[in-house]
Amino acid sequence: MSRGDTGSRVIAGAALADGTRADVRIEGGVITAIGSLPPAAGEHRIDADGLLLLPGFVDLHTHLRQPGGEGAETVLTGSRAAAAGGYTTIHAMPNTTPAADGPGVVEQVAALGEEAGYVDVRPIGAVSKGRRGEELAELVAMARSRARVRIFSDDGSCVADPLLMRRALEYARIVDGVIAQHAEEPRLTAGAQLNDGAVAADLGLQGWPAVAEEAIIARDALLASSTGSRLHVCHVSTAGSVEVVRWAKARGIRITAEVTPHHLWLTDESARGYDARFKVNPPLRTAEDVAVLRAALADGTIDAVATDHAPHPAEAKRSEWSAAAMGMVGLETAVLVVQAAMVETGLIGWAEVERAMSRRPAEIAGLTDAARPIAVGRGADLVLLDPAARRRFDVADLAGRSTNSPYLGQELPGRVIATFFRGTPTVLDGRVLDPEEIGARA
Ligand SMILES: [Zn+2]
Repeated sequence: MSRGDTGSRVIAGAALADGTRADVRIEGGVITAIGSLPPAAGEHRIDADGLLLLPGFVDLHTHLRQPGGEGAETVLTGSRAAAAGGYTTIHAMPNTTPAADGPGVVEQVAALGEEAGYVDVRPIGAVSKGRRGEELAELVAMARSRARVRIFSDDGSCVADPLLMRRALEYARIVDGVIAQHAEEPRLTAGAQLNDGAVAADLGLQGWPAVAEEAIIARDALLASSTGSRLHVCHVSTAGSVEVVRWAKARGIRITAEVTPHHLWLTDESARGYDARFKVNPPLRTAEDVAVLRAALADGTIDAVATDHAPHPAEAKRSEWSAAAMGMVGLETAVLVVQAAMVETGLIGWAEVERAMSRRPAEIAGLTDAARPIAVGRGADLVLLDPAARRRFDVADLAGRSTNSPYLGQELPGRVIATFFRGTPTVLDGRVLDPEEIGARA
Protein backbone atom coordinates (compact mmCIF):
# COMPACT_ATOMS: atom_id res chain seq x y z
CA MET A 1 0.00 0.00 0.00
CA SER A 2 1.48 3.33 -0.94
CA ARG A 3 1.59 6.11 1.61
CA GLY A 4 1.60 9.86 1.36
CA ASP A 5 -1.36 12.00 0.43
CA THR A 6 -1.07 13.80 -2.87
CA GLY A 7 -4.12 16.07 -2.41
CA SER A 8 -3.86 19.39 -0.64
CA ARG A 9 -5.27 19.73 2.88
CA VAL A 10 -5.35 22.73 5.19
CA ILE A 11 -5.71 22.53 8.96
CA ALA A 12 -7.25 25.93 9.56
CA GLY A 13 -6.92 28.10 12.64
CA ALA A 14 -5.24 25.69 15.05
CA ALA A 15 -3.13 26.94 17.94
CA LEU A 16 0.50 25.82 17.86
CA ALA A 17 2.56 24.87 20.91
CA ASP A 18 3.94 28.41 21.25
CA GLY A 19 0.41 29.83 21.48
CA THR A 20 0.30 31.39 18.00
CA ARG A 21 -2.51 30.49 15.60
CA ALA A 22 -1.98 29.51 11.99
CA ASP A 23 -3.29 27.60 9.01
CA VAL A 24 -1.10 24.67 8.01
CA ARG A 25 -1.11 23.26 4.48
CA ILE A 26 -0.15 19.63 3.84
CA GLU A 27 0.70 18.37 0.35
CA GLY A 28 2.38 15.13 -0.66
CA GLY A 29 2.97 14.21 2.96
CA VAL A 30 4.88 17.41 3.69
CA ILE A 31 4.00 20.74 5.32
CA THR A 32 4.14 23.23 2.44
CA ALA A 33 2.81 26.44 3.99
CA ILE A 34 2.11 27.94 7.40
CA GLY A 35 0.35 31.27 7.97
CA SER A 36 -2.90 32.87 6.98
CA LEU A 37 -3.93 30.74 4.00
CA PRO A 38 -7.07 31.78 2.08
CA PRO A 39 -9.22 28.85 0.89
CA ALA A 40 -8.20 27.50 -2.51
CA ALA A 41 -10.24 25.47 -4.99
CA GLY A 42 -10.06 21.70 -4.63
CA GLU A 43 -8.45 21.90 -1.24
CA HIS A 44 -9.76 20.01 1.77
CA ARG A 45 -10.08 22.30 4.81
CA ILE A 46 -10.29 21.10 8.39
CA ASP A 47 -11.71 23.66 10.81
CA ALA A 48 -9.38 23.55 13.81
CA ASP A 49 -10.69 26.57 15.66
CA GLY A 50 -10.05 26.06 19.39
CA LEU A 51 -7.83 23.05 18.74
CA LEU A 52 -4.12 22.55 19.29
CA LEU A 53 -1.75 21.24 16.60
CA LEU A 54 1.46 19.49 17.67
CA PRO A 55 4.03 17.29 15.95
CA GLY A 56 2.95 13.65 16.11
CA PHE A 57 4.07 11.94 19.30
CA VAL A 58 7.04 9.56 19.40
CA ASP A 59 6.89 6.66 21.85
CA LEU A 60 10.16 5.13 23.01
CA HIS A 61 8.53 2.20 24.78
CA THR A 62 5.70 0.17 23.21
CA HIS A 63 5.00 -3.54 23.59
CA LEU A 64 3.37 -4.79 20.40
CA ARG A 65 3.49 -8.53 21.32
CA GLN A 66 3.98 -9.72 17.73
CA PRO A 67 5.43 -12.25 16.99
CA GLY A 68 4.15 -14.74 19.53
CA GLY A 69 1.64 -12.78 21.61
CA GLU A 70 -0.98 -11.91 19.01
CA GLY A 71 -3.80 -12.68 21.46
CA ALA A 72 -2.84 -9.52 23.37
CA GLU A 73 -1.76 -7.20 20.54
CA THR A 74 -0.42 -7.23 17.00
CA VAL A 75 1.65 -4.68 15.13
CA LEU A 76 -1.57 -3.60 13.40
CA THR A 77 -3.76 -3.30 16.50
CA GLY A 78 -0.98 -1.60 18.48
CA SER A 79 -0.47 0.81 15.59
CA ARG A 80 -4.16 1.70 15.73
CA ALA A 81 -3.91 2.30 19.48
CA ALA A 82 -0.91 4.53 18.83
CA ALA A 83 -2.74 6.58 16.19
CA ALA A 84 -5.69 6.95 18.59
CA GLY A 85 -3.28 8.48 21.09
CA GLY A 86 -1.77 10.93 18.60
CA TYR A 87 1.41 8.94 17.94
CA THR A 88 3.09 8.81 14.55
CA THR A 89 6.22 6.89 15.59
CA ILE A 90 6.49 4.06 18.10
CA HIS A 91 9.39 1.87 19.20
CA ALA A 92 8.53 -1.79 19.56
CA MET A 93 10.13 -3.57 22.50
CA PRO A 94 11.84 -6.87 21.64
CA ASN A 95 10.29 -9.08 24.34
CA THR A 96 8.34 -11.04 21.76
CA THR A 97 8.40 -14.81 21.09
CA PRO A 98 10.89 -15.29 19.62
CA ALA A 99 12.74 -12.26 20.98
CA ALA A 100 13.82 -9.59 18.49
CA ASP A 101 17.52 -10.34 18.94
CA GLY A 102 18.68 -10.49 15.32
CA PRO A 103 17.97 -9.03 11.87
CA GLY A 104 15.19 -11.54 11.07
CA VAL A 105 12.67 -10.52 13.73
CA VAL A 106 13.40 -6.78 13.66
CA GLU A 107 12.94 -6.73 9.89
CA GLN A 108 9.71 -8.70 10.24
CA VAL A 109 8.31 -6.22 12.80
CA ALA A 110 9.35 -3.22 10.69
CA ALA A 111 7.70 -4.75 7.62
CA LEU A 112 4.47 -5.44 9.55
CA GLY A 113 4.48 -1.81 10.69
CA GLU A 114 4.94 -0.55 7.15
CA GLU A 115 2.11 -2.80 5.98
CA ALA A 116 -0.22 -1.61 8.78
CA GLY A 117 0.47 1.98 7.70
CA TYR A 118 -0.73 3.84 10.81
CA VAL A 119 2.58 4.88 12.37
CA ASP A 120 6.30 4.49 11.84
CA VAL A 121 7.07 1.26 13.72
CA ARG A 122 10.74 1.19 14.70
CA PRO A 123 11.91 -2.04 16.29
CA ILE A 124 14.11 -2.04 19.37
CA GLY A 125 16.68 -4.84 19.33
CA ALA A 126 17.37 -7.08 22.30
CA VAL A 127 20.66 -6.58 24.15
CA SER A 128 21.17 -10.29 24.78
CA LYS A 129 20.33 -13.43 22.84
CA GLY A 130 16.83 -14.55 23.78
CA ARG A 131 16.88 -11.73 26.36
CA ARG A 132 18.48 -14.25 28.69
CA GLY A 133 21.15 -11.83 29.91
CA GLU A 134 24.00 -14.17 29.01
CA GLU A 135 25.37 -13.58 25.52
CA LEU A 136 25.29 -10.36 23.53
CA ALA A 137 22.67 -10.28 20.74
CA GLU A 138 23.54 -9.28 17.15
CA LEU A 139 23.59 -5.54 17.81
CA VAL A 140 25.66 -4.53 14.81
CA ALA A 141 23.72 -6.78 12.42
CA MET A 142 20.42 -5.32 13.66
CA ALA A 143 21.76 -1.78 13.26
CA ARG A 144 22.82 -2.54 9.68
CA SER A 145 19.63 -4.42 8.81
CA ARG A 146 16.75 -2.85 6.90
CA ALA A 147 15.16 -2.10 10.29
CA ARG A 148 18.13 0.25 11.10
CA VAL A 149 17.87 -0.43 14.84
CA ARG A 150 19.34 2.29 17.06
CA ILE A 151 17.83 1.41 20.46
CA PHE A 152 18.67 -1.83 22.24
CA SER A 153 16.95 -3.15 25.36
CA ASP A 154 16.15 -6.35 27.22
CA ASP A 155 13.13 -4.56 28.66
CA GLY A 156 10.95 -6.69 30.84
CA SER A 157 14.25 -7.86 32.25
CA CYS A 158 17.24 -5.89 33.45
CA VAL A 159 20.68 -6.38 31.91
CA ALA A 160 21.91 -7.31 35.38
CA ASP A 161 25.41 -8.58 34.50
CA PRO A 162 27.75 -5.55 34.58
CA LEU A 163 30.19 -7.13 32.14
CA LEU A 164 27.45 -7.77 29.58
CA MET A 165 26.13 -4.24 30.12
CA ARG A 166 29.54 -2.72 29.53
CA ARG A 167 30.01 -4.67 26.31
CA ALA A 168 26.53 -3.69 25.14
CA LEU A 169 27.33 -0.03 25.77
CA GLU A 170 30.57 -0.38 23.76
CA TYR A 171 28.73 -1.92 20.80
CA ALA A 172 25.96 0.66 20.99
CA ARG A 173 28.56 3.38 20.64
CA ILE A 174 29.97 1.75 17.49
CA VAL A 175 26.56 1.91 15.78
CA ASP A 176 25.66 5.33 17.22
CA GLY A 177 22.91 3.69 19.24
CA VAL A 178 21.71 3.70 22.81
CA ILE A 179 21.08 1.06 25.46
CA ALA A 180 17.66 1.45 27.09
CA GLN A 181 17.84 -0.19 30.47
CA HIS A 182 14.97 -1.63 32.49
CA ALA A 183 16.63 -0.81 35.81
CA GLU A 184 15.78 -3.55 38.28
CA GLU A 185 18.38 -5.43 40.28
CA PRO A 186 16.75 -8.88 40.17
CA ARG A 187 18.30 -10.08 43.42
CA LEU A 188 16.40 -7.32 45.24
CA THR A 189 13.01 -7.86 43.60
CA ALA A 190 12.51 -11.62 43.61
CA GLY A 191 8.79 -12.22 44.18
CA ALA A 192 8.04 -8.49 44.45
CA GLN A 193 4.40 -7.54 43.96
CA LEU A 194 4.19 -3.78 44.50
CA ASN A 195 6.13 -0.82 45.85
CA ASP A 196 7.99 -1.64 49.05
CA GLY A 197 6.18 0.62 51.50
CA ALA A 198 3.18 1.06 53.75
CA VAL A 199 0.62 -0.30 51.28
CA ALA A 200 2.62 -3.49 50.63
CA ALA A 201 3.00 -3.96 54.38
CA ASP A 202 -0.74 -3.48 54.96
CA LEU A 203 -1.64 -5.92 52.20
CA GLY A 204 1.01 -8.45 53.24
CA LEU A 205 2.56 -8.45 49.76
CA GLN A 206 6.27 -8.68 48.91
CA GLY A 207 7.71 -5.20 48.28
CA TRP A 208 9.71 -3.91 45.27
CA PRO A 209 12.29 -1.58 46.85
CA ALA A 210 13.27 1.72 45.23
CA VAL A 211 16.95 0.90 45.69
CA ALA A 212 16.65 -1.98 43.20
CA GLU A 213 16.02 0.63 40.50
CA GLU A 214 18.35 3.34 41.80
CA ALA A 215 21.38 1.06 42.25
CA ILE A 216 21.24 -0.12 38.63
CA ILE A 217 20.86 3.43 37.28
CA ALA A 218 23.90 4.56 39.30
CA ARG A 219 25.95 1.56 38.14
CA ASP A 220 24.96 2.02 34.51
CA ALA A 221 25.66 5.75 34.60
CA LEU A 222 29.21 4.96 35.69
CA LEU A 223 29.57 2.29 33.01
CA ALA A 224 28.29 4.73 30.36
CA SER A 225 30.78 7.27 31.65
CA SER A 226 33.67 4.84 31.36
CA THR A 227 32.73 3.72 27.83
CA GLY A 228 31.60 7.14 26.58
CA SER A 229 28.34 5.55 25.44
CA ARG A 230 24.73 6.66 25.56
CA LEU A 231 22.45 5.22 28.23
CA HIS A 232 18.69 5.65 28.33
CA VAL A 233 16.79 4.78 31.49
CA CYS A 234 13.35 3.28 30.95
CA HIS A 235 10.34 4.16 33.13
CA VAL A 236 12.05 6.01 36.00
CA SER A 237 9.72 5.59 38.97
CA THR A 238 11.36 6.84 42.19
CA ALA A 239 12.51 10.13 43.66
CA GLY A 240 15.95 8.60 44.26
CA SER A 241 16.28 7.65 40.59
CA VAL A 242 15.68 11.29 39.66
CA GLU A 243 18.52 12.30 41.97
CA VAL A 244 20.88 9.79 40.35
CA VAL A 245 19.95 10.93 36.82
CA ARG A 246 20.40 14.57 37.81
CA TRP A 247 23.84 13.79 39.29
CA ALA A 248 24.89 11.87 36.16
CA LYS A 249 23.78 14.67 33.83
CA ALA A 250 25.66 17.22 35.93
CA ARG A 251 28.81 15.13 35.47
CA GLY A 252 28.36 15.19 31.68
CA ILE A 253 27.45 11.51 31.43
CA ARG A 254 25.44 10.75 28.28
CA ILE A 255 22.26 9.70 30.03
CA THR A 256 18.60 10.29 29.20
CA ALA A 257 15.48 9.16 31.02
CA GLU A 258 11.80 8.55 30.45
CA VAL A 259 8.77 8.46 32.73
CA THR A 260 5.41 6.81 32.05
CA PRO A 261 2.09 8.64 32.31
CA HIS A 262 0.96 6.21 35.01
CA HIS A 263 3.95 7.01 37.21
CA LEU A 264 3.01 10.70 36.86
CA TRP A 265 -0.57 10.11 37.97
CA LEU A 266 -1.17 6.97 40.03
CA THR A 267 0.22 5.78 43.36
CA ASP A 268 0.49 2.46 45.19
CA GLU A 269 -2.68 3.40 47.08
CA SER A 270 -4.49 2.15 43.93
CA ALA A 271 -3.47 -1.40 44.87
CA ARG A 272 -5.63 -1.43 47.99
CA GLY A 273 -8.59 -2.77 46.03
CA TYR A 274 -6.46 -5.63 44.66
CA ASP A 275 -7.49 -4.55 41.14
CA ALA A 276 -4.77 -6.10 38.96
CA ARG A 277 -5.13 -3.36 36.33
CA PHE A 278 -2.88 -1.35 38.67
CA LYS A 279 -0.17 -4.01 38.77
CA VAL A 280 2.81 -2.86 36.75
CA ASN A 281 6.59 -3.09 36.69
CA PRO A 282 8.20 -0.92 38.00
CA PRO A 283 5.32 -0.60 40.45
CA LEU A 284 3.26 2.48 41.19
CA ARG A 285 5.07 4.40 43.92
CA THR A 286 4.13 7.00 46.53
CA ALA A 287 2.66 10.49 46.19
CA GLU A 288 6.10 11.93 47.04
CA ASP A 289 7.68 10.00 44.16
CA VAL A 290 4.95 11.26 41.82
CA ALA A 291 5.62 14.87 42.86
CA VAL A 292 9.38 14.49 42.25
CA LEU A 293 8.84 12.79 38.87
CA ARG A 294 6.55 15.61 37.75
CA ALA A 295 9.06 18.26 38.79
CA ALA A 296 11.86 16.36 37.02
CA LEU A 297 9.88 16.16 33.79
CA ALA A 298 9.13 19.88 34.05
CA ASP A 299 12.79 20.85 34.56
CA GLY A 300 14.08 18.44 31.87
CA THR A 301 15.96 16.06 34.20
CA ILE A 302 13.57 13.48 32.80
CA ASP A 303 13.66 13.93 29.04
CA ALA A 304 10.63 12.12 27.76
CA VAL A 305 7.25 10.59 28.43
CA ALA A 306 7.08 6.97 27.24
CA THR A 307 3.99 4.80 27.53
CA ASP A 308 5.29 1.32 28.41
CA HIS A 309 2.06 0.25 26.64
CA ALA A 310 1.80 -3.36 27.84
CA PRO A 311 -1.28 -5.19 26.56
CA HIS A 312 -2.38 -8.39 28.27
CA PRO A 313 -5.34 -10.67 27.52
CA ALA A 314 -8.21 -10.35 30.01
CA GLU A 315 -7.49 -13.72 31.63
CA ALA A 316 -3.95 -12.61 32.55
CA LYS A 317 -5.42 -9.76 34.61
CA ARG A 318 -8.48 -11.52 36.00
CA SER A 319 -6.56 -13.69 38.43
CA GLU A 320 -5.66 -12.71 41.99
CA TRP A 321 -3.07 -9.94 42.43
CA SER A 322 0.00 -12.10 42.96
CA ALA A 323 -0.72 -14.28 39.91
CA ALA A 324 -1.74 -11.43 37.57
CA ALA A 325 0.49 -10.17 34.75
CA MET A 326 2.30 -6.85 35.17
CA GLY A 327 1.60 -3.96 32.82
CA MET A 328 -1.11 -1.68 31.49
CA VAL A 329 -2.06 -0.31 28.08
CA GLY A 330 -1.24 3.36 27.70
CA LEU A 331 -0.99 4.60 24.12
CA GLU A 332 -4.57 5.89 23.86
CA THR A 333 -4.46 7.78 27.17
CA ALA A 334 -0.87 9.11 27.34
CA VAL A 335 -1.46 12.71 26.30
CA LEU A 336 -4.69 12.88 28.30
CA VAL A 337 -2.90 11.81 31.48
CA VAL A 338 0.00 14.18 30.76
CA GLN A 339 -2.51 17.00 30.36
CA ALA A 340 -4.11 16.09 33.70
CA ALA A 341 -0.85 15.56 35.61
CA MET A 342 1.37 18.23 34.09
CA VAL A 343 -0.58 20.89 32.16
CA GLU A 344 -3.67 21.31 34.33
CA THR A 345 -1.48 21.39 37.44
CA GLY A 346 0.38 24.34 35.90
CA LEU A 347 3.75 22.56 35.86
CA ILE A 348 4.31 22.80 32.10
CA GLY A 349 2.73 24.26 28.98
CA TRP A 350 2.12 22.67 25.59
CA ALA A 351 5.59 23.58 24.32
CA GLU A 352 7.01 21.32 27.03
CA VAL A 353 4.51 18.59 26.15
CA GLU A 354 5.83 18.81 22.58
CA ARG A 355 9.38 18.53 23.95
CA ALA A 356 8.64 15.52 26.16
CA MET A 357 6.38 13.57 23.82
CA SER A 358 7.81 14.39 20.41
CA ARG A 359 11.12 16.24 20.14
CA ARG A 360 13.20 14.64 22.89
CA PRO A 361 12.09 11.05 22.23
CA ALA A 362 12.85 11.56 18.53
CA GLU A 363 16.31 12.92 19.40
CA ILE A 364 17.01 10.01 21.75
CA ALA A 365 16.02 7.59 18.98
CA GLY A 366 18.12 9.42 16.39
CA LEU A 367 15.14 10.41 14.22
CA THR A 368 16.04 13.73 12.69
CA ASP A 369 12.82 14.70 10.94
CA ALA A 370 10.49 13.72 13.77
CA ALA A 371 12.59 15.81 16.17
CA ARG A 372 11.81 19.03 14.33
CA PRO A 373 9.00 21.41 15.24
CA ILE A 374 6.11 22.17 12.88
CA ALA A 375 7.77 23.96 9.96
CA VAL A 376 7.58 24.22 6.18
CA GLY A 377 9.39 21.29 4.59
CA ARG A 378 8.89 18.99 7.54
CA GLY A 379 7.07 15.68 7.11
CA ALA A 380 3.41 16.02 8.03
CA ASP A 381 3.29 13.82 11.14
CA LEU A 382 0.82 15.78 13.23
CA VAL A 383 -1.72 15.51 16.02
CA LEU A 384 -4.74 17.75 16.51
CA LEU A 385 -5.95 17.95 20.11
CA ASP A 386 -8.98 19.39 21.86
CA PRO A 387 -7.63 20.36 25.28
CA ALA A 388 -11.05 21.65 26.41
CA ALA A 389 -12.71 18.26 26.03
CA ARG A 390 -13.47 16.29 29.17
CA ARG A 391 -15.09 12.89 29.25
CA ARG A 392 -15.29 9.59 31.00
CA PHE A 393 -12.74 7.29 29.39
CA ASP A 394 -14.49 4.20 28.13
CA VAL A 395 -13.49 0.79 26.79
CA ALA A 396 -14.78 1.94 23.37
CA ASP A 397 -12.02 4.57 23.40
CA LEU A 398 -9.37 1.83 23.33
CA ALA A 399 -8.22 0.99 19.82
CA GLY A 400 -5.83 -1.86 20.57
CA ARG A 401 -6.69 -5.49 21.23
CA SER A 402 -6.41 -5.48 25.04
CA THR A 403 -8.41 -3.54 27.61
CA ASN A 404 -6.10 -3.53 30.66
CA SER A 405 -6.29 0.23 31.13
CA PRO A 406 -6.32 1.66 34.65
CA TYR A 407 -8.29 4.69 33.42
CA LEU A 408 -11.54 3.01 32.37
CA GLY A 409 -14.46 4.83 33.95
CA GLN A 410 -12.29 7.79 34.99
CA GLU A 411 -12.84 11.33 33.78
CA LEU A 412 -9.89 12.51 31.70
CA PRO A 413 -9.27 15.87 30.06
CA GLY A 414 -8.43 16.41 26.42
CA ARG A 415 -9.12 14.45 23.27
CA VAL A 416 -7.19 13.43 20.16
CA ILE A 417 -9.33 14.79 17.33
CA ALA A 418 -7.08 13.87 14.39
CA THR A 419 -3.72 12.27 13.70
CA PHE A 420 -1.85 12.65 10.41
CA PHE A 421 0.84 10.18 9.46
CA ARG A 422 2.97 11.29 6.50
CA GLY A 423 0.16 13.67 5.60
CA THR A 424 -2.56 11.02 5.65
CA PRO A 425 -5.22 11.07 8.39
CA THR A 426 -5.23 7.94 10.54
CA VAL A 427 -7.70 9.46 13.03
CA LEU A 428 -10.44 11.93 12.10
CA ASP A 429 -13.17 13.39 14.34
CA GLY A 430 -11.75 11.29 17.17
CA ARG A 431 -12.23 8.02 15.29
CA VAL A 432 -9.44 5.69 14.16
CA LEU A 433 -9.91 5.12 10.45
CA ASP A 434 -10.03 1.62 9.00
CA PRO A 435 -7.16 0.37 6.84
CA GLU A 436 -9.31 0.75 3.68
CA GLU A 437 -10.12 4.34 4.59
CA ILE A 438 -6.50 5.39 5.02
CA GLY A 439 -5.62 3.42 1.89
CA ALA A 440 -8.35 5.18 -0.09
CA ARG A 441 -7.03 8.55 0.99
CA ALA A 442 -3.45 7.83 0.03
ZN1 LIG B 1 10.41 -2.32 31.57
